[in-house]
Amino acid sequence: MTTLAITGGQVLLPDISVTRADVLIDQDGGEILEIGDGLAGDADETIDASGSLVTPGFVNGHSHVAMTLLRGYADDKPLDAWLQEDIFPTEAELTPEDVHVGAKLGLLEMIKSGTTAFADMYFMVPQIADAVEEAGLRARLGHGVITVASNDEEARADAQEGLEVAEALDGRADGRISTAFMPHSLTTVGSEYLEEFVPKARELGVPIHFHGNETANEVTPIVEERGVRPMAYAAERGMLEEGDFLAHGVHLDESEIGLLAEAGTSVIHCPASNMKLASGIAPVQRMLDAGVTVGIGTDGAASNNDLSMLDETRDAAMIGKLKDGDASAVDAESAVRMMTQGSADAIGLESGRLEEGAPADLAVIDLEQPHLTPHHDLVSHLAYATAAADVRHTICDGQVLMRDRDVLTLEEESVRTAAGEAAMALVERAEN
Ligand SMILES: [Zn+2]
Repeated sequence: MTTLAITGGQVLLPDISVTRADVLIDQDGGEILEIGDGLAGDADETIDASGSLVTPGFVNGHSHVAMTLLRGYADDKPLDAWLQEDIFPTEAELTPEDVHVGAKLGLLEMIKSGTTAFADMYFMVPQIADAVEEAGLRARLGHGVITVASNDEEARADAQEGLEVAEALDGRADGRISTAFMPHSLTTVGSEYLEEFVPKARELGVPIHFHGNETANEVTPIVEERGVRPMAYAAERGMLEEGDFLAHGVHLDESEIGLLAEAGTSVIHCPASNMKLASGIAPVQRMLDAGVTVGIGTDGAASNNDLSMLDETRDAAMIGKLKDGDASAVDAESAVRMMTQGSADAIGLESGRLEEGAPADLAVIDLEQPHLTPHHDLVSHLAYATAAADVRHTICDGQVLMRDRDVLTLEEESVRTAAGEAAMALVERAEN
């Protein structure tokens, strides 16, 4: 067994308390062997975490990682116009190589900001899986199925691709990749396709992930045409079961929050995207009070515009208070729980907790910074004051992905250069 000890740090425990401890990792098995004092002794390798906070690697519960290529390309528009006028036409020009290099850029950014696992909905998913395998992260991947504006044959082929991707990629990268069936949303996939393909996904044993109640425009048409709220509509189509998870949940009413809690379906809160597209504010404290599992996600870089879970968590804590007019809503402890175990539970991964037997997915944060001084409360610092650049080391599945800010699995400069060039060429193709 090859072991790695992370010594001398403060460690964030699953109950969201912080204690002084070392962490001993089995690198071959990719799991935490022990958390306690004096574990450095016989380890094959040691990382000095003195002056640092050792946390679970952050879990980004909803992303479109290859959209890094469109970061800063189209801003300051509402969701529908942004998608129809800018995003969809440009995405139509994406090549498999674009998706691969865009994903690598996103993964580089995730590693540099302490994220070790994520859920991703996009297309050309095998290229994303290749990037995940190379970068060393953990992911739940799926093909975003869209059937509006397609004829029946195209629609069925797209849904079929969603199933095939879920089946083919599950378990890839030594089990670091898992999958889901991912209908894009309740208004971009026709009811007949949901009715046909969701049961087929159940046969594969994969969860369902979709954008739910992101904007009022996703709620009104369903209420008008079907006479029920969207979550009731989703439940009727078998899309709200334990282990399923939806992104956003901005426009959920009490009956829908109750449905989610009862079903064991989780919500990924994406506050930056919701603010930037002026979609609204998700009722996060109400969901937590009702017992819904809530995680945090960045959504795509084009609507954020970064993939830092630290920024996202601060946004979640801030906007949660504004939503309720209550400074005690979405407190630091809740926010930190959401960015780690909340997201992990929501997307069906065992990471998000530092404890014996848990996956060895960790981030080590440098506390010796002006903006992280003094150390009254490190959970508060994680929720409100820590920046992506404070992450010193990132470890996933027992492997060191970043040491002292140096990413070991991806060539940072060549990834940035290739992605920058691919993005410019993509936009040029789309505009001509
Ligand atoms: Zn999204």
